Amino acid sequence: MERKVRVRFAPSPTGPLHIGGVRTALYNYLFAKQNGGDMILRIEDTDQTRFVPGAEQYIIEALTWLGIKFDEGVHIGGNYGPYRQSDRKPMYKQYADQLINDGWAYYAFDKPEALEAKRKEYEAQKKTFQYDCNTRLQMENSLSLSAEEVQKRIDAGDPYVVRFKFPENLDITVHDLIRGDVTMNSSLLDDKVLFKSDGMPTYHLANIVDDHTMEVSHVIRGEEWLPSAPLHVMLYKAFGWEETMPQFAHLPLLLKPEGNGKLSKRDGDRLGFPVFPLDWHDPKSGELSSGYRERGYFPEAVVNILALLGWNPGNDQEILSMDELIKLFSVEHISKSGAKFNVEKAKWFNHEYMQMQSNEVVAQMFEPILKEHGIEADHDYVVKVCGMMKERIAFISEMWDQTSYFFTAPTEYAPAAIKKRWKPGMTTHIGKIIEILETMPFEHDVLHKAILDDYIVANQFNMGQIMNSFRLAVVGDTKGPDMLTLVMVIGKEETISRLRRAVEVIGEVAE
Ligand code: GLU
Repeated sequence: MERKVRVRFAPSPTGPLHIGGVRTALYNYLFAKQNGGDMILRIEDTDQTRFVPGAEQYIIEALTWLGIKFDEGVHIGGNYGPYRQSDRKPMYKQYADQLINDGWAYYAFDKPEALEAKRKEYEAQKKTFQYDCNTRLQMENSLSLSAEEVQKRIDAGDPYVVRFKFPENLDITVHDLIRGDVTMNSSLLDDKVLFKSDGMPTYHLANIVDDHTMEVSHVIRGEEWLPSAPLHVMLYKAFGWEETMPQFAHLPLLLKPEGNGKLSKRDGDRLGFPVFPLDWHDPKSGELSSGYRERGYFPEAVVNILALLGWNPGNDQEILSMDELIKLFSVEHISKSGAKFNVEKAKWFNHEYMQMQSNEVVAQMFEPILKEHGIEADHDYVVKVCGMMKERIAFISEMWDQTSYFFTAPTEYAPAAIKKRWKPGMTTHIGKIIEILETMPFEHDVLHKAILDDYIVANQFNMGQIMNSFRLAVVGDTKGPDMLTLVMVIGKEETISRLRRAVEVIGEVAE
């Protein structure tokens, strides 16, 4: 019988979720939805020393913002809960006991100092100590000590850990959906700690027990977990759960823009782009790390950007909605090699998504910014300006720079532009334009003909100089959209008053 697709995103709440983690969540989501499966949010907080308050809420808020929805999870419940490992604590010991009883694991009593001494001893010989099939009998554990001694120590409450006992010289093959078969020899692997005497499992044990009991069918996670996969495969074998072992897919790393090494928070700071979905205030240091949301990225754009970092739809389509991604996603098209983050491309995506917003929506985003600048503008006017100017921006924060002159008359005129365009006789030309505006019907085509054709061209005046000076007087600089379109939006009175003011301020210039 076909198994129901059930996938999980299983972050550890150790800080803000990196965009690499967001991409993992996204790929899991796309895969689940494409296959009519379930998507689970499980919080892996077995390592209490790395717990960071607020991280779990951050993860939920970030994924909600991006439209990555869950069917079960720590925040919504479900039939396979609890979904936070610390809340599942009582259920893990029986599994550790089972492994010990079946000879797959053993108690180890080595004190931290003893392990440290061993490490030093090996270092002195230029070797690295590994707790494994070659060294385990030199250590204090239930393989080297008598059964009575072991019992005595446990009864006395001596701290212990439970370690996995890798069989010697066994080739372990992990079948990865992206990489194919990956084989590692057990003699190279260390006897990982599975459980501690404080009753807490480690990541490895909890992860396998949870994936099994939550009936997870596919494990889609970052490449950094590939080295742990042989242990995980062996744990399924040890528990006798091989038949329902999930299929694995290890995702390629997200790389620095230069391509060498994993994308880190420092790269983001260095190159000025966020590596987190939302702003994060570190509760300890108070440090702020910036997020895509607060930078003005659309959640749909972030989803689109991340989807294409390590996967492609098999054609050159770049703009893909969540629904399209769900349809097109395929594990076969995930690349084996790391994906380079490209800041300019990320901005390009946001620009594209900006163009897809209605003028009304862009205006609503812009209005609070106008308010900050002390501007109270008519809503329909803001909608009109946004419609005209959105093609020039990728982020709403750029809108004011592009449009301030629609809302407030210039108080200064760019000196370089004055020097270049405002030549002797310009006040006369501007005076003529004022006259045309005052006397002719205020219509784009009428004014265009009157100013450009009948005045400038017919008299063989310098078109570039006059039109740029006209612009300079209205805008304060030589930027902006088509001049008469601009005049139509700003209005007759306002245009005339700006022209008069420029003539007054700049005045006539000498030869
Ligand atoms: N808790 C692990 C993490 O933080 C999950 C790894 C896995 O998906 O197995 O990435």
